Amino acid sequence: MMTMSDFPPTLTSLYQNQVEFQKLLGNIDIPKDDPNEMAHHLLGLVTEVGEVSQADKRWKKNKRNKHYNFQEKLDEIADCFIFLLNVCIYSDITPWQILNAIDHKIKENKRRFKSPEKDEEQK
Ligand SMILES: [Mg+2]
Repeated sequence: MMTMSDFPPTLTSLYQNQVEFQKLLGNIDIPKDDPNEMAHHLLGLVTEVGEVSQADKRWKKNKRNKHYNFQEKLDEIADCFIFLLNVCIYSDITPWQILNAIDHKIKENKRRFKSPEKDEEQK
């Protein structure tokens, strides 16, 4: 039988959990627009992106690097998402806003792919 815990968390529940964790670390008045704190988490994101590339080195073209660990890669991608949540939290961006922005971007990319000539006409 399926229980509530079988359902994946939503972006909103992840965001709320991350806000709670940041509060435990002493950052009380959040979400808020805090460029310094945002920059810290943006740098954290950059390092985690590098860790994803280390967990799966098959992208390298020298053929010597065959390292690939699915669980390690999954965990590093999760770290990236957590830092992205922090970037949103310290930019005062709500889950609703980021979800809609992502949705809009993907739809726009699909539209551009399907009819690139329309973009050319606008130039
Ligand atoms: Mg990591």
